[in-house]
Amino acid sequence: MVVSAIKGMSDIYSPEVEVWREIEEKARQLFLRFGFREIRTPVVEKAELFARSIGEDTDIVQKEMYTFPDRKGALLTLRPEATASIVRAIIQHRLHNIPTMGKFFTIGPMFRYERPQKGRYRQFHQIDAEVIGFEDPVVDAEAMYLAMLFLEETGLRNIELRINSLGCSLCRPPYKKRLVEYLKNYETSFCKDCARRLNSNPLRVFDCKVPGCREIVSGAPKVTDSLCEHCRQHFEKVCFYLDEVKCGYKHDRNLVRGLDYYNRTAFEIVAGGLGAQNAVGGGGRYDGLFAELGGPDIPAVGFAIGMERLMILLKAEVKKERVKRPDIYFIALNEEAREKFFGLAQNLRKRGLYVELGYELRSLKSQMRRANKFGSSHVIIVGESELEKKTAILRNMDTKEQSELPLDNNTEQVLIEKLSKENE
Ligand code: AMP
Repeated sequence: MVVSAIKGMSDIYSPEVEVWREIEEKARQLFLRFGFREIRTPVVEKAELFARSIGEDTDIVQKEMYTFPDRKGALLTLRPEATASIVRAIIQHRLHNIPTMGKFFTIGPMFRYERPQKGRYRQFHQIDAEVIGFEDPVVDAEAMYLAMLFLEETGLRNIELRINSLGCSLCRPPYKKRLVEYLKNYETSFCKDCARRLNSNPLRVFDCKVPGCREIVSGAPKVTDSLCEHCRQHFEKVCFYLDEVKCGYKHDRNLVRGLDYYNRTAFEIVAGGLGAQNAVGGGGRYDGLFAELGGPDIPAVGFAIGMERLMILLKAEVKKERVKRPDIYFIALNEEAREKFFGLAQNLRKRGLYVELGYELRSLKSQMRRANKFGSSHVIIVGESELEKKTAILRNMDTKEQSELPLDNNTEQVLIEKLSKENE
């Protein structure tokens, strides 16, 4: 029987993978301009890291984590997101003590045991950015601006930034009390999940997609109306800086986000064309997380963008032309010819050219067909008569022009010069 991949986990291959690489590279380049440094953490962590950070009563921890005992019984989890791991790494290596190391990014796979559907998978990839050490709203605004700028630079249009403030440890508890008082009036009408959330994590009721729950929530008191003075000013300033850089946004008073560690700023970037899973990215401020994980009390802001959803949105852009075409395709018509240019091909690759070899000594016609399939820009053909003359045929596949190329110690240099002249 054929073994296939696990449900909700995908293989990524050409030509899509070329677009993935392009996007990842774009992220790296752009993030570097904003002063971010790359960090790579393990995909497996101790299970308690996520329970403590994301929150015991979140969908992620309750239902979606890949948690399993290792051979000695230690509970491990495949990371469902990157923030907790990055915070752990920063605390562990005391990176917060290095003044130039305040911004981190990572790109990699995350794992959530969700019901797979369009835009929702069990292994998915995030581009994740975190800024640590600053409480100032300018940092929140800059993070959102960066996320939006990045998505725009990938070619995405019609995206909307939705922002909200979730308050802080001062103003959220009294708000929560008022919310619960309101929600209790509808206790019997909630879905099973929300009935549970009512007592453990009432804010999460805002996230529920069940129509009945949504209706109840629409009349509920909103956290933004209960902000303390400090949080209110913070939020206003975030908006000010977004306006300053003409970064459009919508204040979404129902936005709460699925992870517990957020305070004050929370945001999501949504796009049409994704169906129910309409968020292509999201993030927010998490000032309490460092202390929660046993580290120093450091404020922080971060966001994550989902690669798969971004790819769905960019689908129309995925064209074969992104696959690089070979500069040279070598066609050998006999073993001796192949021996002649095996070394030459490797040297040309060392010097930066993309070279393909016809590995099988087939007929000229069949090898030409293969060279064409690759879209090769040049073909070099060596057969018996060329060997006798110590030459090769160089064919420009675009102009169909053919010339004779001497096969000697100078061939490599002659070729490099010829090709770079053509590209001028
Ligand atoms: P979150 O970590 O839940 O805030 O998600 C941040 C971004 O990751 C979302 O906006 C999505 O683009 C992406 N994402 C989250 N969960 C999934 C999933 N199961 N499948 C694909 N993408 C996801």
